[in-house]
Amino acid sequence: MDDWGAALFEPQSVAVVGASASPGKVGHVVLRNLLATYPGDVHPIHPTEREILGRPCRPSVSEVPGSVDLAVIIVPATATPAVLEDCGSAGVRAAIVISGGFAEAGPDGRALQERVAAIGRAAGIRLVGPNCFGVINVHAGLNASIGIGLPEVGGVSLFSQSGAYGMAAFSRSKDGEIGFAKVIAPGNTVDLNEVDVLRYLGEDRHTRVIAMLLESIRDGAAFVETARQVTPYKPVIVLKTGRGESGRRAAASHTAALAGDAAVAAAALRQAGVRLVTDGLTLLDVAAALDRQPAPRGGRVAVVTNSGGTGVELADLLEGEGMTVPRLSAGLQARLREHLPAHASTENPVDLTVDWERFPAMYGETVRALLDSDEIDALIPVLLQRSALIPEVTDRVIAEVAAGRERGSTIPVHICWVGPQEAEANRRRLLEAGIPCSPWTARAVRTLAGSRPRPVRPVPTVGEPLTLPGDANEDGWLPPDETLRLVAEAGVPVVPWRIVDSQVGAVQAARDLGFPIVLKAVRPDLVHKTEAGAVRVGLTDAAAIRAAARDLVRSLGPGALLVQHQAGPGVELVVGAVFAPGFGPMVMAGLGGIWIEALGDVAMRLAPIGSDEAAAMLDELRGSAVLDGGRGGPAVDRRSLACLIADVSAWVARAPWLRELDINPLIATGGGLVAVDARIRIATPD
Ligand code: ADP
Ligand code: MG
Repeated sequence: MDDWGAALFEPQSVAVVGASASPGKVGHVVLRNLLATYPGDVHPIHPTEREILGRPCRPSVSEVPGSVDLAVIIVPATATPAVLEDCGSAGVRAAIVISGGFAEAGPDGRALQERVAAIGRAAGIRLVGPNCFGVINVHAGLNASIGIGLPEVGGVSLFSQSGAYGMAAFSRSKDGEIGFAKVIAPGNTVDLNEVDVLRYLGEDRHTRVIAMLLESIRDGAAFVETARQVTPYKPVIVLKTGRGESGRRAAASHTAALAGDAAVAAAALRQAGVRLVTDGLTLLDVAAALDRQPAPRGGRVAVVTNSGGTGVELADLLEGEGMTVPRLSAGLQARLREHLPAHASTENPVDLTVDWERFPAMYGETVRALLDSDEIDALIPVLLQRSALIPEVTDRVIAEVAAGRERGSTIPVHICWVGPQEAEANRRRLLEAGIPCSPWTARAVRTLAGSRPRPVRPVPTVGEPLTLPGDANEDGWLPPDETLRLVAEAGVPVVPWRIVDSQVGAVQAARDLGFPIVLKAVRPDLVHKTEAGAVRVGLTDAAAIRAAARDLVRSLGPGALLVQHQAGPGVELVVGAVFAPGFGPMVMAGLGGIWIEALGDVAMRLAPIGSDEAAAMLDELRGSAVLDGGRGGPAVDRRSLACLIADVSAWVARAPWLRELDINPLIATGGGLVAVDARIRIATPD
């Protein structure tokens, strides 16, 4: 375990620099927090006071007898460098700088912050902050934060780049909804960051689930690398806010236009096994659920309900999340029917009807039978009105879940709670028994769906780097012949083509390549050809080629011509790549053609990937069904498309100079996949 982790979360002794005797001051709140529950030594530091809150006060950390592991600093920003230097000479190993007035306050603050960071580095003190909320270790009773009291104990550790949000999360623990192990809000993050903390929490034995609220990720590649190691054995749930658009600004290719910062981060994190959520409440709901129940192994859900309508609504919502509510087998239905009235429905949703006097037995026996079955991956009992109000129903559900676990069942149970206020005590007991109780249908489904694991697939090894191609224009775009040659080198079949500089040459090339023919004008700065009227398709004889060539010269001026055999017809796909700052090369695939940006139906991954991961990308497309053909069109061979994407990703990973690659369209014809257009932009000196 990292040394800083022990100093920060399990210090033997703590100094509070800037401790204050006046209630209401931050220096008072922090000291009080520490004294309330922390069993170690706490030393208030103050230049003049002799004693605060009954503890002897020292003028500086170096005057504390014995060693100090952790310093919590709440002095004005300008006084912080001197305090940190004093901490250095006292042998302090970690410091939490709660004070503000640093980078968030302007250029002077930024300079101060850099000094603080430099002093910390030189003295070997690991820093949290500045301008932060602090650190909590619930198991150790350590509250080195400005939060009010300790949250309830549990297995969720929270890393929150928003301190206030982190604090708000606590109040939910008071309602029994969630229990925490460690909480850390890093503020301006001069030193210890999301990657350090993720690694630490991954190894921390009290942390069963890691929840992170991230506004920015400094080193995306390092975060992904660490997450890949943690997620296979410990759930990591991330709310990534901030839809940065910087990736789009300079985008000229379709691929780059679709690879905004938020999309890149989401794709890379998911690929690393992170469970991504889109709001703070769901972050906590999913974290709490995974702390208390196993993760579902698949998407088959059984619903047990005393309200048919709620059951149908849940089934709809679950299907919307890509889960299913499968019809139960005849054998299982027969087993359920033994305990249910004749008119109950046992297909799934299992509808117990309104025979409420029998609810405890019906809920209990149904839960028992379903937990023992191998036909489902998760169970949602609905407790609504009467069933929520009857304490014996709660008793039986709690007892059956416990008994199921004893028998080795790992099927997660999530309650969909639609109970009145008078039933609150029952809900509380369910929570205390470790059974999540989501109010209403949508939240229950969101929580269950959000807790599904994501597979982490092996990363293929990267080959030798490729040499930088020459003759790009000043924006970095390569000419079409160079581009098509590289695309072929990456392993993508390219439609037969020639570059010519005359009508005669075009006709000759057409005879070699075979009709029908497509003619395209080649001009140095021409990137989007269709818009410029530079593409002529469906040319079936020499006369048509001559006429088209003449036409292109008339409208675009003299220049070379790209002569291509006309491929297809078929489904137009896009395969591309971008270099994403912070993360690295990303490969993209989706439905291409002229509606690509309007549909935005692409999937992305950090390159390189294997063909299984590429196949998962295709399954993820909203228009995935388009690949299966229909309307007279051929089906796309998913296997060979996945292999092609994997090949492109391997090539991209070897091309550190690549900025954008756009193969659009790659046409899936009855005879196979073929690229007919591509563009490549490489890094330019500036
Ligand atoms: P741009 O994307 O620069 O506008 P493309 O070369 O992609 O130009 O051509 C536009 C469209 O013309 C393609 O999306 C495709 O539908 C069609 N097309 C272009 N070249 C061919 C070809 N060789 N075979 C079949 N269709 C083609
Ligand atoms: Mg195109």
